[in-house]
Amino acid sequence: LNARYQAELHLPGQSACGARFNLMVNSGLAIELETTQSEFTDGVGLYRTEFPFIIRSRFPTEQEQIELYSKVLTGYPDKPVVMRTLDVGGDKPLPYFPISEENPFLGWRGIRLTLDHPEIFLVQIRAMLKANIGNGNLHILLPMISDLAEVDESLRLIKQAWFEVDDEVNQQHVVPKPKVGVMIEVPSIMYQLPELARKVDFCSVGTNDLTQYLLAVDRNNPRVGNLYDALHPSVLRALHQLGQQTHGLQFPASICGELAGEPIGVLILAAMGFNRFSMNHRNLAKIKWLLRRIDLSELKLLLPEILACQSPKQVRLQVQRFLDQKQ
Ligand code: PEP
Ligand code: MG
Repeated sequence: LNARYQAELHLPGQSACGARFNLMVNSGLAIELETTQSEFTDGVGLYRTEFPFIIRSRFPTEQEQIELYSKVLTGYPDKPVVMRTLDVGGDKPLPYFPISEENPFLGWRGIRLTLDHPEIFLVQIRAMLKANIGNGNLHILLPMISDLAEVDESLRLIKQAWFEVDDEVNQQHVVPKPKVGVMIEVPSIMYQLPELARKVDFCSVGTNDLTQYLLAVDRNNPRVGNLYDALHPSVLRALHQLGQQTHGLQFPASICGELAGEPIGVLILAAMGFNRFSMNHRNLAKIKWLLRRIDLSELKLLLPEILACQSPKQVRLQVQRFLDQKQ
């Protein structure tokens, strides 16, 4: 089966009815990027910068970061590379920066930590901006945004870093201004989309954390693992609203949580009107193969039934039935 998927990897991400999908990869490890065939993807939809920080015994220097980010940016010439600023804390501890909290998932993680330590944030942004000189495909993504003030402060620091870099290169190079986006993964920010759309260029939906925070279920705790499900009807209704709102605002939205790399998940998201998906490179061929076989108008007819389901199990049955009919 895998060979059948791979055989179509070079073809465009397009449905049987001609609708175009942007299919990108999530990455964080150099090895993943090396094994991904960049020419068959539409870019890197999520580059998790925390891995290079986690594997070291100290913060990587600006120069080390520049080298790393340059590799990623040059590996995808003329395609967007969405680099997320450091998202540690919660389930991603830094060995040399211990944080002890009773509720790490509700605590000091992602943008909260880096805005409290602007020196970490600024070094990282400067490294990204320098790596982007001559490339121009960098997009910056902010994790764990729960409040508009965090967006304002991040934008202020990004601007500051840009001026610093521009000064440093002394008019010998053009320092491109990257697009900036926000992760939608904390429910509060879903209710401030109009304001958000005015401040930033795009958003990317992190269904992993969004599910965790909407359902109040730890994404890594096996004891409540049976309750953690991105196909929970409430999560799906939230995603549907998000799709409608971002569409109405003409606010570009992609999905970079695991749901986009799952066949049932991606079909539901496509039915909702989303068309930019970023996933683990291992799922790319399968998802492309699947999307190439759907008729979007047929799939959209299924949406009211999916949204009316009362359990993830019912959702799965509905979509599975649709898939079985197609076989
Ligand atoms: C998410 O939360 O859905 C996401 C993509 O980010 P991470 O899994 O790195 O928290
Ligand atoms: Mg997340």
